Amino acid sequence: MPSWTKNFSGLLNLFLQSNCPLCQRSTTCNLCEYCTRQLQTCHHKDPTILWQKPIPVFGWGVYGGSLKRAIAVMKYENQPQVARPLGQWLGEAWLLNSPNHDKKLVVVPVPMHASKQKQRGYNQAALIAQSFCQTTGLRLKLNGLERVRETKAQFGLSVSERKNNLAEAFAVEQELHHRCLDAPVLLVDDIYTTGATASSAMQTLRQCGITVLGLAAVATAVKDTHTKKS
Ligand SMILES: [Zn+2]
Repeated sequence: MPSWTKNFSGLLNLFLQSNCPLCQRSTTCNLCEYCTRQLQTCHHKDPTILWQKPIPVFGWGVYGGSLKRAIAVMKYENQPQVARPLGQWLGEAWLLNSPNHDKKLVVVPVPMHASKQKQRGYNQAALIAQSFCQTTGLRLKLNGLERVRETKAQFGLSVSERKNNLAEAFAVEQELHHRCLDAPVLLVDDIYTTGATASSAMQTLRQCGITVLGLAAVATAVKDTHTKKS
């Protein structure tokens, strides 16, 4: 290779490299190889373990360790690019283990209130849903749901307080209301915890006559007693 080509490709690689948002190692991908391997250890053996009524949940990983940190970095340290690999892995898991093969499915991310989104600059659930749809080929309705009422942070509230906090927090977008009645909806979010958010969003969609299949989440934080129940 002539030296100028070598220098040029070296220079190009330098431009394409960035620092991994989780560990600061240099990488040409969204996350470095080391963090990718760490995150893969959080992957659920069976993502459909929580796929049961009343809220069927498809979860990519266990909320803890490196996955918990990756989600925190994505949300609170202004690193939206972390959503891309997470959404892709969720999509790949869906293609492999999907409990439903309906190609008409419409994917709707769990929305943030406009003022909160403005503050953060992005809704991580929407970015995950975008990447999920690129991988699965499913239809995306980015603004299918809207958060109409500002709610308190769910952290630290009891189960009943969480439910009250989220009552009538969502509204269905007009277009989804009119055009997608025949297609079931799959909600997408970053984390599934008590189910209060998912339950409120599902209730709003169902009240409009829309079938909701369930929720796909990157991480599930559910007690062992619940996951072991079959
Ligand atoms: Zn890393």
